[in-house]
Amino acid sequence: MSEVKKLKKPRGKVRLIEGKCIACGARCQSSCPVDGIQMSEAGEPQIELSKCIGCLKCVKACPGSALEIFYSKEDLEILAQLAGQQDLAEDEADPEELARRELVAAYRGVWVFIEQTEGEAARVSWELLGKGKELAAKLGVELSAVVLGDKVEHLCYEAFSYGADQAYLMDQTVFANYRTYPYLDALCHLIDKFKPEIVLMGATGMGRDLAGAVATRVKTGLTADCTGLDIDAKRNLMQTRPAFGGNIMATIMCDRFRPQMATVRSHVMPMPAQEAGRKGKIIHVSLPISEADVFTKVLEVIRDKKAGEVDIAGAEFIVSGGRGLMAKENFAMLQELADELGGVVGASRSAVDAGWMPPDRQVGQTGKTVRPKIYIACGISGAIQHLVGMQDSDLVIAINRDKEAPIFEVASYGIVGDLFQVVPAITAALREMKAASSGIEVKDVKAA
Ligand SMILES: Cc1cc2nc3c(=O)[nH]c(=O)nc-3n(C[C@H](O)[C@H](O)[C@H](O)COP(=O)(O)OP(=O)(O)OC[C@H]3O[C@@H](n4cnc5c(N)ncnc54)[C@H](O)[C@@H]3O)c2cc1C
Repeated sequence: MSEVKKLKKPRGKVRLIEGKCIACGARCQSSCPVDGIQMSEAGEPQIELSKCIGCLKCVKACPGSALEIFYSKEDLEILAQLAGQQDLAEDEADPEELARRELVAAYRGVWVFIEQTEGEAARVSWELLGKGKELAAKLGVELSAVVLGDKVEHLCYEAFSYGADQAYLMDQTVFANYRTYPYLDALCHLIDKFKPEIVLMGATGMGRDLAGAVATRVKTGLTADCTGLDIDAKRNLMQTRPAFGGNIMATIMCDRFRPQMATVRSHVMPMPAQEAGRKGKIIHVSLPISEADVFTKVLEVIRDKKAGEVDIAGAEFIVSGGRGLMAKENFAMLQELADELGGVVGASRSAVDAGWMPPDRQVGQTGKTVRPKIYIACGISGAIQHLVGMQDSDLVIAINRDKEAPIFEVASYGIVGDLFQVVPAITAALREMKAASSGIEVKDVKAA
């Protein structure tokens, strides 16, 4: 009789996820029971792996979800063996569990739904292909794009250029304009037939509508508005999103059903680099459905972008104002600075609630997620609900008269001072610099 070796579950080691540290002030360091974390000059943790005992205390203490546990190759092998032993024990005890495991194992591959309007893809779909590529590589599977529409084959080639290995194409006139039922039938048909383990969609109006309907019909779980996606040691999708009003980051799993479905807002994931001419396989699928089968008719498509409406989500430079601005008219001062930078004006929720700025300018959990090159936060305290919408900006400049304001924890540069003096001074300095480079003399018209 062979003896079963008792394996000890490895705890793994901690590592920093690049670019996620918000330099909160060394909460991870103070939580470490073995003194295994030193802080760099930039305020980022440097983990001494020889000391790390994988206790997870720093991971839990980190407000920016910037730390994660990783396992060595040997650890992963032990985990897989342990999972196998556990599976065997559970399977023997529970035939239903065995059937469930077989069902889960039948699903393979990562899919991204390519949202399109009049043949033009939503940017979030390409962002999701970037993340999907990473997940597919970890799982060792293919990344597929799902393209639905009328005369939309070009989107398959665009999807290949952003990393998709193949594309499921349903090109029929009935899919020309989005309507829930034909799209629902189409996507469920594809899922039934090809069985993906992960389906990602943009958290747009269309994505939110479709993802909920599909998850309900195929009887699986859906996590909306994810801010982080990763794979665990058992091939499950770890779906992270703010919960309880943004006060905690929850990681949600759907380990008993397939596919695992998640929606992600635009600008949350970085845009992947495009590789022109990259090739992939197109799988043509059609559904026996005609216009007569669809009760909802599209009479006219009206683009909802009103004249003068600003897209802060796509802006490269954002000057945002909060309650510290004190009044609506003071936003003109931010507009002047934004104009000098070629950017737009954003706002905190307090400023929007006060009626100083329209809702489409709100940055944060219940507003827009932005990822500009420069984000200038003026008179914004830095509540977590605001930070989740802007902390992935390339560079954050915070202006606040309270040196303890949490916004300084995510700022690359912090200016402690009165914004009514600092903002006009920056604008004036920019004008002078521009004038100096063009040889034009600047006069202060108001002072003259
Ligand atoms: C479920 C939920 C969702 C939310 N979603 C969002 C969201 O999407 N976006 C969002 O922004 N908030 C959101 N909030 C609200 C959030 O919790 C904060 O209340 C809000 O962000 C605070 O806005 P503020 O920083 O402008 O105001 P305050 O917190 O009042 O901060 C004003 C800041 O201005 C500074 N200040 C004042 N005068 C000056 C001056 N002259 N010069 C320099 N600095 C000055 C002060 O020191 C202070 O730090 C949400 C809240 C909840 C519960």
